[in-house]
Amino acid sequence: MAKSRFEYVREFERENHLLPQTYIVVRVDGKGFHRFSQVYEFDKPNDIEAIRVMNDAAQEVCRQIPDVLMAYGQSDEYSFLLRKDCRLYDRREMKLITLFSSLMTSAYTYYWNVAHPNNLITIDKKLVVFDARAVVYPNFTVVQDYFRWRQADCHINNLYNTTFWALVLKGGLSTSEAEQTLSGTLSKDKNEILFSRFGINYNNEPEMFKKGTVIVREVGKSLASDTPVEDLSNRQLQRLDKVMRKAEIKVYHQDIITDEEFWDSRPWLSS
Ligand code: ATP
Ligand code: ATP
Ligand code: MG
Ligand code: MG
Ligand code: MG
Ligand code: MG
Ligand code: MG
Repeated sequence: MAKSRFEYVREFERENHLLPQTYIVVRVDGKGFHRFSQVYEFDKPNDIEAIRVMNDAAQEVCRQIPDVLMAYGQSDEYSFLLRKDCRLYDRREMKLITLFSSLMTSAYTYYWNVAHPNNLITIDKKLVVFDARAVVYPNFTVVQDYFRWRQADCHINNLYNTTFWALVLKGGLSTSEAEQTLSGTLSKDKNEILFSRFGINYNNEPEMFKKGTVIVREVGKSLASDTPVEDLSNRQLQRLDKVMRKAEIKVYHQDIITDEEFWDSRPWLSS
């Protein structure tokens, strides 16, 4: 087709191609979920149904994007790891982050409304919105530390929130009194408050709350090949795509900080 005389405006477009042969992690995070969780009356500190909606939505993202090897979620965020040789959208950053944020947003709305027919997401109340960022990591050790960082964050927040809401809901403190009580406390102090004042052993709290959620595409074998990805034939690429699409997607609530077995038994995550 002939180009119009307006075509020159394309010259203004800029594209960031994420570095080749690096691990891309895309993290989505709910916009204003502090307020969202009030509008839709989440249980505090942890609304199980809301966590399930996050997990269902993230699994749908994994199904739709076969290049996702694993994902980790807690609170209103999810991180998705793409395989190192991912060529989706030519690794264009804007395409990738908008794809993940809009998929997460539409899947969340869908699963929320299926699970809450009497508390539907509507424009009048509040729409759910996710932002997204992409970061590239140069080696798998940093990728592991990235996921460990998010799980450590989950632990710190959950211990705080569990203690905070015990003080408010069971101890009758106001939210500002609870905040003051917890100011400057260490983990062991919070464990002690939970145990001595409320008879709660933090260790016995549900794993899903303490550890967050890990989603793994169980490929079962390393994806590494002697052929550089740019030399793979279309048939080889299609075969790889089929392996990814056929692999089972599984959900865990387990430690990924110190459990080396989790990583060691899944060599495809780094391939
Ligand atoms: P921003 O737009 O900057 O991300 P935010 O209000 O979403 O702002 P976050 O730091 O992302 O802030 O915090 C997420 C909020 O959502 C927290 O207040 C957390 O308590 C709440 N939240 C998320 N999931 C749940 C859940 N399953 N149950 C109860 N509260 C939840
Ligand atoms: P990509 O993911 O690369 O954007 P695409 O299939 O969305 O692929 P586009 O170039 O964005 O390709 O084209 C949009 C397509 O949607 C066109 O084929 C167009 O005919 C169709 N389309 C969009 N809006 C309408 C509409 N209102 N009625 C009929 N067809 C529509
Ligand atoms: Mg945030
Ligand atoms: Mg948020
Ligand atoms: Mg958040
Ligand atoms: Mg289009
Ligand atoms: Mg178009």
